[in-house]
Amino acid sequence: MVNIKLMFIKFVVFRGGYCSGIILGNKRRAFLVTRCGKKVQIYYYFPTCIAQNRFFFSISIFFVLCYCRPMRLYYLCMRLSNQYMDNRSLISISDLSKEEILSLLRRAGEFEKNPNQRILAGKVVASLFFEPSTRTRLSFETAVNRLGGRVIGFSDPKSSSQAKGESLKDTIMMVSNYADLIVMRHYLEGAARYASELTPVPIINAGDGSNQHPTQTMLDLYTIYQTQGTLDGLTITMVGDLKYGRTVHSLLEAMHHFSPRFKFVACNELRMPEQYKEYCRQWGIDYEETTEFSEGIINQTDILYMTRVQRERFSDLMEYERVKNIYTLTASMLTGCKPNMRVLHPLPRVTEIAQDVDDTPQAYYFQQAKNGLYARQALICRALDL
Ligand code: ASP
Ligand code: ASP
Repeated sequence: MVNIKLMFIKFVVFRGGYCSGIILGNKRRAFLVTRCGKKVQIYYYFPTCIAQNRFFFSISIFFVLCYCRPMRLYYLCMRLSNQYMDNRSLISISDLSKEEILSLLRRAGEFEKNPNQRILAGKVVASLFFEPSTRTRLSFETAVNRLGGRVIGFSDPKSSSQAKGESLKDTIMMVSNYADLIVMRHYLEGAARYASELTPVPIINAGDGSNQHPTQTMLDLYTIYQTQGTLDGLTITMVGDLKYGRTVHSLLEAMHHFSPRFKFVACNELRMPEQYKEYCRQWGIDYEETTEFSEGIINQTDILYMTRVQRERFSDLMEYERVKNIYTLTASMLTGCKPNMRVLHPLPRVTEIAQDVDDTPQAYYFQQAKNGLYARQALICRALDL
């Protein structure tokens, strides 16, 4: 078994361009197990791997054993490969094991007690934001500054050579010559993964399109633990734009370690994508979908995770206009909630949380944003192996 694992880690992970997957198979047939797990396509594999007959034999057995759970297999492979190859990048929250998540949360707790430590002295972190950000960028930059490192980069791609038509690849290759770590946000799903394949410099994904926002998830987990005293067995209600909201996608994946129950509240246009519901089914997670944002649901909830309708992701702005104000949480809706219940929001908010909620004991979104600093300090140290 050990032998299978080692060879497995070493050779099978394939990540190309904007598509991620794992190649499994034997000499004649190979499969690409894609991220969404359900699609198992026949694919070709690298000639260098063909020599590894024994390896492919082992993998074929492993694959057959895992065939009914391709998504689980996918995540296992990604994690093992990251560990084996000592890849310090953080692209998806699923790159982290439960143990790593818990150890990062402990580290974040240490930074909360003492955020000023000069452990990044001499390090340069590039902060590349191809898409607007306030909290993520500022909290990352503050994190580096408080740890004694230096930041280079841009917050507006128009001020970089991207405006002259430079490709993402060229920008990443160039910045890799200068920095020890790259923190990047991009409007395209998969951009961070692509960048991590181009350079040995670790990449931290600070949001890629509607796909993932793993660093937000770390601060969300930190906040959930801080408010609930546990991450286990909680009822988490996600409200709003579950289709394009990358924060809910990452949070859902991270929570699978902690036996949650989910309630998804969204209108039909913004429902949780099938891929994430399939993910819940694969991991045996209970979920319920509804279009109605009622007090009945709020009263059963431990964490109420509100989200903004992601205007920038709509191709049809008429559709955005139709759905933009669909759910608004008001203070009067919180009168029967559980005493431990807290309202979280990755921010910025638009109309989805009325101002009167800010004065209730349930409002916790500003403290949540503050936790971004500590969670990101912990993640930067992990990426630089400090
Ligand atoms: N996109 C939001 C903002 O920058 C939150 C974030 O930083 O991730 O204001
Ligand atoms: N700040 C979060 C993000 O960057 C949520 C949002 O922008 O609505 O995804």
